Amino acid sequence: MANSTGSTDPIIIIGAGMAGLACANWLHRAGRPVLVLEATDAVGGRVRTDVTPDGFRLDRGFQILLTNYPEARRMFDYGALNLKSFRSGAVVRMTDGHETTLENPLHAPIMAFAALASPIGTAKDKLLLAKLVAQLAGCTPAQLLARPSVATIDYLHRYGWSEQIITNFFKPFFGGVYLDRELGTASNFFEFVFQQFAQGAAAVPALGMQQLPEQLAARLPAEAIRLSMPVMAVSEGGRRVHLASGETLAAAAVVLATDGPAAARLLGADLPAPASPAARPTTCTYFATAGAAPSHGHNILHLNARPGALVHNVAFPAETGASVAPLGQGLVSVSTHGEHGLPEDALTARLRAELIAWFGPVANMWRHLRTYRIEQALPVYGPGQPAQQELQLGDTLFRCGDWVSYPSLNAALGTGRQVADMLLVH
Ligand SMILES: Cc1cc2nc3c(=O)[nH]c(=O)nc-3n(C[C@H](O)[C@H](O)[C@H](O)COP(=O)(O)OP(=O)(O)OC[C@H]3O[C@@H](n4cnc5c(N)ncnc54)[C@H](O)[C@@H]3O)c2cc1C
Repeated sequence: MANSTGSTDPIIIIGAGMAGLACANWLHRAGRPVLVLEATDAVGGRVRTDVTPDGFRLDRGFQILLTNYPEARRMFDYGALNLKSFRSGAVVRMTDGHETTLENPLHAPIMAFAALASPIGTAKDKLLLAKLVAQLAGCTPAQLLARPSVATIDYLHRYGWSEQIITNFFKPFFGGVYLDRELGTASNFFEFVFQQFAQGAAAVPALGMQQLPEQLAARLPAEAIRLSMPVMAVSEGGRRVHLASGETLAAAAVVLATDGPAAARLLGADLPAPASPAARPTTCTYFATAGAAPSHGHNILHLNARPGALVHNVAFPAETGASVAPLGQGLVSVSTHGEHGLPEDALTARLRAELIAWFGPVANMWRHLRTYRIEQALPVYGPGQPAQQELQLGDTLFRCGDWVSYPSLNAALGTGRQVADMLLVH
């Protein structure tokens, strides 16, 4: 049967990351034939989980799903994902090396900070947090993302927070979300993420983050996804797709759901330059612990405010109840953001020394499992950048993904849905 573009050919989606799979799902639900072509051997793009021979499930980089994301709520069956949440809050290792625990700092800021005789922030800081929670509660996520922006660090200063809370809380917490310790990321994204943390949980599927794309892929017919199928070029404005195998496929339309650099390689001069072509790197180092979990974990994220540290945040994902470590063992995920210039061995040794200073001699017993260096983890999203760039490039050519929006799963899913909507009225 011909579709509304007058063609019996499928809509070809290049890339089986979250954006491509979301787009394919919405089109398939509406009865449109789709074909997803993915260069690698599995779905997920930047959301992948490896299973080691001894039974650890390692996400390729520390990553969480904020359960309140509007697009995620539209798309996923949370029950089937068996989501496991981190306790809301964080243990912060402050600049002086002392630790303080913040329970629910964004859910119930006054309680979280007021109960503490903690030097994490001033009395005014606590009131400002409560004020922002209340202000943002009155806005939709779309309204927040549409706001004009400055760098988050400038926003925090203008809002009136002290250096104390910026250094001890905002830099380690939001620096971890942005992979940008200096908080140069745009403030409209800060407001969106702040609201999402305040209103939802930070969770992981029990079997690892790759369960998210797997759930979307499972809703498509098996023949609608072809793995290990790198695309080399798109021609005729989105009517022809050329594969590395030499095959050429006819398409009703093409959706570029790759990352930004791959899209540029595919289209070259035909693709408008992205607002920011740069990306932020991160490194995730995993250790195994003997015994169920370190006693100081308590299922809460650990943030490091110490200047110059390579350990930026530490999580113990098995403490959430996720099945990511073999019985009787625990898992430690250590994130290091930005460029460190160290080979894996030297980085692991430096991290171990910092972990011993933080968690005690027990960290010397933690067994190094694997290190993931992710060069293009998040697209840079700077002040003034639009929350969404043009998604339609031609009559039969579209694009989606976080790089044409903002650096989040919500953006990848959302742009995928919007492209599907455009195609359905095409
Ligand atoms: C370490 C890390 C931590 C993160 N933490 C969070 C977090 O906590 N919360 C959050 O919301 N977001 C987080 N993110 C961001 C989130 O993962 C991304 O925004 C999202 O996965 C992007 O999806 P995408 O579909 O736009 O792109 P991608 O995942 O990059 O997918 C693009 C796909 O296109 C394929 N492709 C590329 N070129 C070709 C070609 N020529 N032919 C065929 N296929 C091709 C790629 O192989 C890939 O599968 C994190 C990302 C990383 C890496």
